[in-house]
Formats: sequence, structure tokens, C-alpha cells
Amino acid sequence: MKRKGILIVVSGFSGAGKGTLMKRLLQQYDNYALSVSMTTRNPREGETNGKEYFFVTRQEFEAQIEKDGLVEYASYCDNYYGTPKKYVEEQLEAGKDVILEIEIQGALKIKEKFPQALLMFVTPPSAEELRRRLEGRGTESSEVIMKRLKRAAEEAEGVENYDYLVVNDDLEECVAHMHRLVEAAKNTPARNEELINNIRKELETFA
Ligand code: 5GP
Repeated sequence: MKRKGILIVVSGFSGAGKGTLMKRLLQQYDNYALSVSMTTRNPREGETNGKEYFFVTRQEFEAQIEKDGLVEYASYCDNYYGTPKKYVEEQLEAGKDVILEIEIQGALKIKEKFPQALLMFVTPPSAEELRRRLEGRGTESSEVIMKRLKRAAEEAEGVENYDYLVVNDDLEECVAHMHRLVEAAKNTPARNEELINNIRKELETFA
């Protein structure tokens, strides 16, 4: 029996190292598919359309909302971000575990729509480390960094809504840890209803 994949939401403060983590996770294991979001923000240096994001205008983004082309979307620091529906559905159907790297408003919408989704929150070991990483990245102005740190404080309030907290101290350890959490989550009864129902039916025939 081919199993459908599970939906995995990964959130974390901007600068928590989610991008690098996801890259390693995809390199090391072949069960994952990473959803590429759509955004109205400008590409950073080195970002390519279709790889990190689909970069679109507000008009194009709103057209996607209109035609129900997004699984979820949210506004973050003055820009729209959203998850295209088609890719997610296709990959889940193909048995892949689909990762959505999204912020908290989107994560909560996913949890509401897909109660079986697995929600993980990535954090650096301390707030000071977060500020260091954001500044070290050198891709944002100090104004944007301040906005993102303020937003991080807001997001910290919502961490309790997630299933697991993942501290990103050592990259390799963190990747292995995330993978173990996903594997464990796949084995909960709630995520295996079909299998259990089949066994129940078979057992009835013995009775
Ligand atoms: P950044 O501008 O740093 O690439 O992303 C800003 C925030 O938007 C991050 O927290 C990122 O996880 C989130 N984000 C990226 N794509 C999506 C999406 O499709 N939906 C939602 N809700 N958030 C997203």
C-alpha cells in the first residue's frame, strides 16, 4: 500500500537558519519535497525566481488568491507570502513528505485546514545569537533587521501552537533530529487511520 506523504510546517525566527537546515534535510533524505512559495518581496542578492521563491507583483499575488491557487497566505513585514496549492497536492499524493517553510500565521491556517500536519519551530539557542545571525547575513538594512527582530518577539508568543521545538545549535545534529521527529510523527495512530481501519476490518472477518 502506497502511503500519502505528510505535511510538515517549519517556522522559526527570521535568521534561525531554516533555509540551511531545509537544504541539508533535502540533500540527506529522499522522502522530502520542499514547497516553493510565492512572494511580493524583492529578490535578495543570489536568489533566483522559481528556486527560493516565485517573485511576483501584488497584482499577480492577488490574482492567485482570487482563483484559490494558494493553500495559505499571509502578510509579513509589508509583503505577501503564500504556498501554491498544486505542487503540495501532487507531492503528497506521490508519497512525499512536503515541507512548508512558512511564518506563524500561515502555520496556524495549515493546522486548522490539515489537523494531521506536523508543526515544527526552529530557534537559535538565544536571542543574542539571532541578532548576530541576522546582522552577519548582511542582506538586510538595519531598519529591516529591527522590523524582523520585533516580529520575532511577536512570533515567540505563538510557539506553543507547534508540535515540536527544534534548537538549531549544531546544524548536522539539528537535521538528524528533525528527521527523527518526522519519522516518529508518521507513526501516530491519527496519521495511519487507513491502515488501522483495514486491520480492524480484517480482524472482524476472523471473529
Ligand atoms: P524571507 O523574506 O526571510 O524569505 O521570509 C520571511 C518569512 O516569510 C519567513 O518566516 C518565511 O518562513 C515566511 N514565508 C515564506 N514563504 C511563506 C509562505 O508561503 N507562506 C507564509 N505564510 N509564510 C511564508
